Amino acid sequence: MFIELTDVLRCPADHPEQYLVLLPEEVVDRAVVRGELGCPVCGETFPIEDGVARLGGPPDIAGTVPALDAGAVAAFLGVTGSGGYVVLVGGAALLGAELATVLDGVHLVALNPPAGVTGGGGTDVSVIGAGRIPLKAGSVRGVVLGAGYGSDPAWLDEAHRVVLPGLRIVGEGPEPAREGWEALGSAEDVWVIRRG
Ligand SMILES: [Zn+2]
Repeated sequence: MFIELTDVLRCPADHPEQYLVLLPEEVVDRAVVRGELGCPVCGETFPIEDGVARLGGPPDIAGTVPALDAGAVAAFLGVTGSGGYVVLVGGAALLGAELATVLDGVHLVALNPPAGVTGGGGTDVSVIGAGRIPLKAGSVRGVVLGAGYGSDPAWLDEAHRVVLPGLRIVGEGPEPAREGWEALGSAEDVWVIRRG
């Protein structure tokens, strides 16, 4: 896990948004390999093991191969320039390594990736497991929801919460219609919306 990601991590527990305190035990090139995250409000602690931050069990949603390739996802997200974070949820995390080269200088968060996806030990991709998106509201430049997540109301809420106003969410599933969501387009079970 990229050590600077700690700034936008938030406790996944059901209480008002709260940052987490990092106690790193092993850090290699700004990536935390081993350590612990603790919440000052509820006292919960979460381990970082083999570079993976475990902030809770993932939901029972199978990670499937994404319908889009990295180039298409980058185009739909409309993210240009370096800096900031993009979150890839479920099967979308399979695009992480390729997206890291397309979105140069943008840090990627692979949330609940299919087995076998690792952060690679570098600082381009952070791997997290959690039952929600454990990030600060309005903190990321884009969210990609893989199959299953892109049609789940709770995960749609989470994506909307963490993306910066005016920026985009790409998802798989039927196009969601919600207040404050501007639909930019959809085709073949992939949709793009902009947070109002
Ligand atoms: Zn907490």
